[in-house]
Amino acid sequence: MKITFLGGAGTVTGSKYLLETGSSRILIDCGLFQGYKWLRRRNWQPLPFAINKIDAVVLTHAHLDHSGYLPVLYQQGFRRPVYCQQATSALCGILLPDSGHIQEEDAKYYSRHKLSRHSKPLPLYDRATAEGCLELLKPVEFDEKFTVGEATLYLQYAGHILGAGSLVVEAEGKRVGFSGDVGRPDDILMNPPQPLPELDLLLLEATYGNRRHESSDPFAQLADIVNKTAKKGGVLLVPSFAVGRAQALQHILASLIAQRRIPEIPIYLDSPMAISVSDIYCRYARHHRLNREQCHRMCEAVTYTRSVEESKTLSEQHYPHVIIAGSGMATGGRILHHFKRLLGDQSTSVVFCGYQAEGTRGAKMLNGAESVKIHGEWFSNRAQTTMLHGLSGHGDYLEIHDWLQKSALQAGTRIRLVHGSPEALDSMRDYLRRMTGFELEIAADGECLEL
Ligand SMILES: [Zn+2]
Repeated sequence: MKITFLGGAGTVTGSKYLLETGSSRILIDCGLFQGYKWLRRRNWQPLPFAINKIDAVVLTHAHLDHSGYLPVLYQQGFRRPVYCQQATSALCGILLPDSGHIQEEDAKYYSRHKLSRHSKPLPLYDRATAEGCLELLKPVEFDEKFTVGEATLYLQYAGHILGAGSLVVEAEGKRVGFSGDVGRPDDILMNPPQPLPELDLLLLEATYGNRRHESSDPFAQLADIVNKTAKKGGVLLVPSFAVGRAQALQHILASLIAQRRIPEIPIYLDSPMAISVSDIYCRYARHHRLNREQCHRMCEAVTYTRSVEESKTLSEQHYPHVIIAGSGMATGGRILHHFKRLLGDQSTSVVFCGYQAEGTRGAKMLNGAESVKIHGEWFSNRAQTTMLHGLSGHGDYLEIHDWLQKSALQAGTRIRLVHGSPEALDSMRDYLRRMTGFELEIAADGECLEL
């Protein structure tokens, strides 16, 4: 058996691992490279193998850094099955077409501003192609075994977002695990990740390899912010990621209202994508912590504004309210329109609820920027800006260590660390070498591992 690291090695995006046995070739995850331009450029480079040699793709979860390259394969003629968990399939139905739409918009933007060396820049793929590739999805249930050639595979619950799994592959007398992104023991929405079986090799994510999550109570923190903002008669703006984060916020706010810890002020979810994702979370309630009643309460507490017209009417509200809208790092999306009209007002509060990458508007605002540039114009920023902790979907290095200890992995098991910044990978390797008997290395980009 042979494994080649084609992405997600030495970086957190572009996850792609090629697994080859004597009889089959399987691509595990099919992620987009995101972030810096030199990384995104890799999305345009051809893969180092003929795609008609691939028998199947398996996705660990729906985030674009694990699924967003699938339309490129489809565009190049790939028509074999793509296995993923049922909820992942439903989420891909929203995320991939949206990604195609964004690629089209980016290409138009580059063309309009003459930012490309091509006279007519093309999108990496368009919405129609992304919709087309959905026909390849073969949804499976957690722990349901399926076969590709003589390899037997199954996904087990990983608790990172809805549908997220760790993949176990058995072939040629060996068993290999792909952790995918691993969740937390005490996540607000998701159940803890299921412990792994005995393995010969594990590819393990290291997103939080050098960081610990702050121990904080997001319910108490958010209650405090809502109450202070309401007292000032202001508006609370929450830039949010559409998958997982928006639903956690909805659940926290609904619970706080039910417990009478905050007043019953209007809450708007101003993101068509997050609204569709919330519906999927309610449909797959068996895969997270919330029961039917809590799902119902979370939807009832929030007003959904799908259309642009509905979104625009929010500017006519003159009493305290909460608006949750994309994007999570305020790099785009509807939140920017609310920023333009409300950041200059001292009674406005802004809460970021996840990691803000360097250079993003979110990071600048958290660093106290007094003015913010939006759509080419400067706006003064008088809003109270804070970070809400406790909503991350990744286990930190102690939580991952705990998860490994609960597994059936034997001393000497080979572990290759993936999906982390160079600092996170180094730190996680050193920590796990010190604390466990596993044989640890950091996976190198392009490396080919024989088993
Ligand atoms: Zn993820």
